[in-house]
Amino acid sequence: MRILLTGGSGFIGSHIALLLLERGFDVLILDSFINSSYNVIYRIENYLDNKKINSKLETVVGDIRNKKLLNNIFSDSIKEEKPIDAVIHLAGLKSVSDSLINPLHYWDVNVLGTLNLLLTMKEFECYSLIFSSSATIYGLSDTVPMAEDHKISPINPYGQTKVAIENMFHDLYNSNINFWKICSLRYFNPVGAHPSGLIGEDPIGNPNNLFPFLTQVAIGRQKLLKVFGDNWDTKDGSGIRDYIHIVDLAEGHLACIDYLNSKDACLEFINLGSGKGYSVFQIIRQFELSTGCQIPFSIQSRRDGDVAECYADISKARKLLGWTPLKSLDQICIDGWNWQMKNPNGYS
Ligand code: NAD
Ligand code: UDP
Repeated sequence: MRILLTGGSGFIGSHIALLLLERGFDVLILDSFINSSYNVIYRIENYLDNKKINSKLETVVGDIRNKKLLNNIFSDSIKEEKPIDAVIHLAGLKSVSDSLINPLHYWDVNVLGTLNLLLTMKEFECYSLIFSSSATIYGLSDTVPMAEDHKISPINPYGQTKVAIENMFHDLYNSNINFWKICSLRYFNPVGAHPSGLIGEDPIGNPNNLFPFLTQVAIGRQKLLKVFGDNWDTKDGSGIRDYIHIVDLAEGHLACIDYLNSKDACLEFINLGSGKGYSVFQIIRQFELSTGCQIPFSIQSRRDGDVAECYADISKARKLLGWTPLKSLDQICIDGWNWQMKNPNGYS
């Protein structure tokens, strides 16, 4: 099979790309590199060479909002007799805080970009799609674990764009029930890195998220970790989230391809998380235990928009996809630290 992977050089996309190529899929990455480095592609290519993997990786530098480019990608693939069998669509903007400052930019890239992609897929009769949605769409509720039928109530423009896209899928599927096969995967907190240490998370500027911030404290790029609140209504007062190893998350996409291949038509919304909640203090302790690093931290006030607890009910993914996350929190810490140590300044 040949897969078009938009956003394929980003944190999540690079791990999916590697796994797909290892399993014999050909992959065409479309990425603007607005939030990633071309070094990702070189590293994946080196990895394939070293392992003597023959699957084909092609890369197009471009923007999903460019309709003509999308059209060329699909028409060339037909002319060259290597059609695109399915699309994994990850290209987009993901910062909650930026989305509050620049909401229209988020609607433009995330929603218009996805609309362009769907229009092109329809024109070229490519009907299989896996999309990167987010647990953000569930909003502020404290009911855990969160199943897919949990109330949808995003509290920021980023989350709104994901909901708008999911609504687009509903309309599309209802209009053409015999054709479309769509899985919208709602990610919880993907963390860690590929065990090789070749690819991992490399945020531009100061990280907003716990895990990359923590590994940067460990390597000395940040002085101390700010813990946003120790007075939440949780077992130790710090916030609880669902951290899933990035390789487990990537495996979920492979399982999803098998699922789509087994169906004539479908539209599914599926949580991908570990199904377990860990507090900030538990993460710090486990990281120290797994890596031997000391993590200095200070308690700060709560961060705006945070919830006490958020973790997934993953029974649907287990049942429908036959997928289950395999990697422990210990492994997440080891692999995340391995990546950070081998790449103290990320890809640069
Ligand atoms: P990322 O920023 O590392 O990857 C996104 C990639 O998309 C980047 O390589 C970027 O250059 C590219 N891109 C951005 N705008 C583009 C455009 N207009 N045209 C083409 N390429 C473009 O982010 P990620 O963490 O890998 O996330 C991937 C997807 O998963 C995103 O859609 C994000 O919203 C979603 N998601 C991520 C998380 C998370 O915690 N990382 C959680 C839930 C959902
Ligand atoms: N957090 C923290 N310090 C940081 C970043 C995050 O204490 O520097 C906390 C945050 O309040 C939340 C948890 O860590 O309880 C996970 O935050 P992250 O931003 O990684 O994920 P999200 O809240 O978006 O799910």
